[in-house]
Parts: sequence; structure tokens; C-alpha cells
Amino acid sequence: MSDVQAGERGSGEAQAWIGLGSNLDGPHERIVQALAALERLPLTRLESASRRYASRPVGPQDQPDFVNAVAAVRTRLSPLALLDQLQALEQQHRRVRERHWGPRTLDLDLLLYAKERWQHPRLTLPHPEMARRAFVLLPLAEIAATLVLPDGRRVAEAADELAMGLAADDVRAV
Ligand code: ADP
Ligand code: MG
Repeated sequence: MSDVQAGERGSGEAQAWIGLGSNLDGPHERIVQALAALERLPLTRLESASRRYASRPVGPQDQPDFVNAVAAVRTRLSPLALLDQLQALEQQHRRVRERHWGPRTLDLDLLLYAKERWQHPRLTLPHPEMARRAFVLLPLAEIAATLVLPDGRRVAEAADELAMGLAADDVRAV
């Protein structure tokens, strides 16, 4: 019999990066709570977290600014088991999915999981939008500047390029 638990990967710890976002009902506090919840995930430890960033919404503009952050974890959960945990946390914040890119109480995206590439109905890895989103790359650059993105650029370089196209207060550390 194997000692491996359900959802546990077979081969030691993997490093994974998680994007957090909220723009409803006390978003700063929700991000702080979500980071604390990541510390309590099974088979997972929180390695580092960025500051919080405020950013203008993508898509519909008639909604509050977002608060975003990025966290690095080391986990023995498989990618889908980690996604299950993130979605359970989203549910605890009673996220309402009313419209695409609309307001949400908590959004947790699995950005990268080691060097895994997935095209699964529930999970695309690396997260397909991450390299285009300043609210992901700026906080990620704080904790993983030298990480290499799927397109071969370092995170710091990609974040600098995106930041050049931004207005001063589009994405700002708070
Ligand atoms: P978005 O985060 O793009 O605004 P949603 O959070 O509403 O959109 O999308 C959630 C859906 O995306 C879920 O059904 C989930 O299974 C799927 N998904 C695919 N890849 C990922 C990923 N890397 N991280 C989080 N969810 C993902
Ligand atoms: Mg999401």
C-alpha cells in the first residue's frame, strides 16, 4: 500500500505561484485572509507573498478597483488538487459569478505549477493570461524577478515592459 494521499503528487514538493484578486466587500481584508488561508492548506507551505496592489478593472469599468497580490507556495498537492483547494477558498468567500470579468469577492488563479504545461478542461497551465496582466506581473516581479516565463523572458523584464504602457495609477502597490 502506498502512503500517498488523495491528490498528492508522487515526487516531492513543487513550487507554484498563485494570483489573488478581489474587488468587493472589503477587498484588502479578503486578500489578507486569503493569504492566511494559503498558509493553512494541506501539504502546502506559503513561501512568500507580494505586497497588495490596487488596479483598475479589466473589462467593464463600472466596478470598483481590484486589490491583487501574488503568492509562492511549495506543495505536495497535485495541480488539480491545488486547484480544488483554491476553488474551495473562493467558495468560502461566496464568490458570485454573475458576468465575465465582473466584480468578484475572491479570485484565485493558479499561475504556474513548476514547469507543468496543461490543457485540461478545468486547468490551463501556465495561466494563459498571466504574461499580459500587469496586476499579475508587477506583484510577481516582487517575489520572483528572475523566474523565466513560458515565452523565455524573465518576469522582471516582462513586468517592466508592461509597466511602460501603464498610466501612473493603473496598477500601484498600496
Ligand atoms: P478568470 O480568473 O479568468 O477571471 P474565472 O476565475 O471565472 O475566470 O475562471 C474560472 C475557471 O477557469 C474555472 O472553471 C477553472 O477550472 C478554470 N481554470 C483554467 N485554468 C485555470 C488556472 N490556471 N487557474 C485557475 N482557474 C483555471
Ligand atoms: Mg480565476
